[in-house]
Amino acid sequence: MTSPKHPTLVRRTPWPDSVSRAVVTPLQPSVVYASETPDTLDAQYDGLTHGYTYAREGHPNADVLARKIDAMEGATGGLVVGSGMAAVTAMMMGTLKAGDHVVGGDQLYGRCLRMLAEELPRFGVATTLADPTDVAQIEAALRPETRMILIELVSNPTLRVADIEGIARLAQARGILLAVDNTFTTPRAFRPFDHGADIVLHSVTKLLAGHSDVTLGYVATRDAALRKSIYDTAVTLGLTPSPFDCWLAERGLYSFELRYDRAEENAARLADHLAGLGGVRVIYPGRSDHPDHNRAAHLLGARGGNMLSFEIEGGRDAANRMTKACENIAFAPTLGDIGTTLSHPASSSHRALTPEGRAAVGISEGFFRLSVGVEPVELLIEELSAGIRAAR
Ligand SMILES: *Cc1c(COP(=O)(O)O)cnc(C)c1O
Repeated sequence: MTSPKHPTLVRRTPWPDSVSRAVVTPLQPSVVYASETPDTLDAQYDGLTHGYTYAREGHPNADVLARKIDAMEGATGGLVVGSGMAAVTAMMMGTLKAGDHVVGGDQLYGRCLRMLAEELPRFGVATTLADPTDVAQIEAALRPETRMILIELVSNPTLRVADIEGIARLAQARGILLAVDNTFTTPRAFRPFDHGADIVLHSVTKLLAGHSDVTLGYVATRDAALRKSIYDTAVTLGLTPSPFDCWLAERGLYSFELRYDRAEENAARLADHLAGLGGVRVIYPGRSDHPDHNRAAHLLGARGGNMLSFEIEGGRDAANRMTKACENIAFAPTLGDIGTTLSHPASSSHRALTPEGRAAVGISEGFFRLSVGVEPVELLIEELSAGIRAAR
């Protein structure tokens, strides 16, 4: 009840009653939650009643978002954290200890590679990279102390498709956790828990939120003890998501399926168009000339996704002319935005590699990655055709 004498000084402002309900989820920015008595607080902490206490430990907007992503992934009790990398951090710090070994896909997201190369070894966790399209290479990288394998189904930016079923069988036989970063593929195209994953994580920042205006992550596990450990680690490390970001991401999810389907349809049309131009090498998992097309068809069905890579001739000069001519396509190293974005790995995600190192993974100065958005496909065809003409 509002204190009539001190309406501005006492924080007991009532929420107006309404017999009708808001259709939009309320935004709850409160960091602290007041309990009635020490007994009720005990009951909350003991899990006998549900209540919030302090936002770093959880808040309603994060939970609303987490339950929606759970439903999409076929998960229970997933956790929303402050970024995709926070999800990776919570997962690793919550499950690994010094002396463990981790095998990572050799084309993981750049910062995940850095996590394996730089951060984990500082804490006594050894790491090895291996090619997840070849289960024999993953197997060869395993050690008795291997605790986790981390892969993405579709690699960035060369869009190779991992042999997740083979890797899942191997991981299960050896008692190793299989973690899948499902950011690229999204549960619209692929649900890793249905194919043997033990842990699924996301950069919600990308396709799920979809508008390049929030930074969030998500991590879910099959195992309840592991879930508790990851949760406690995330709370201790302070990987808290902002309520407003969670609210925006939930809002973004309502249009996720529409955005994804439209973007994917555009990507498939564009892939065929670019491939028809001549002098352009197109990589798209939905096309029959993709190196892993059979596996893509088996795992993804008709879902080629919204990501498309291509390579033009003419080196850096041609690449400069290309991005300049595509005036309505943002040249930006992100993905999953509602608008189409073009990225150039040689000058962004893969700039730390030598030209030879890049060549080894198939990335030249003429290599581009396109995150296809929901614009009319005619516009995209026109823009990219103009770009490729200018590049020549
Ligand atoms: C962007 C991205 C991440 C990291 O997510 P942030 O939200 O930027 O921290 C992890 N994995 C993949 C595949 C990504 O694309």
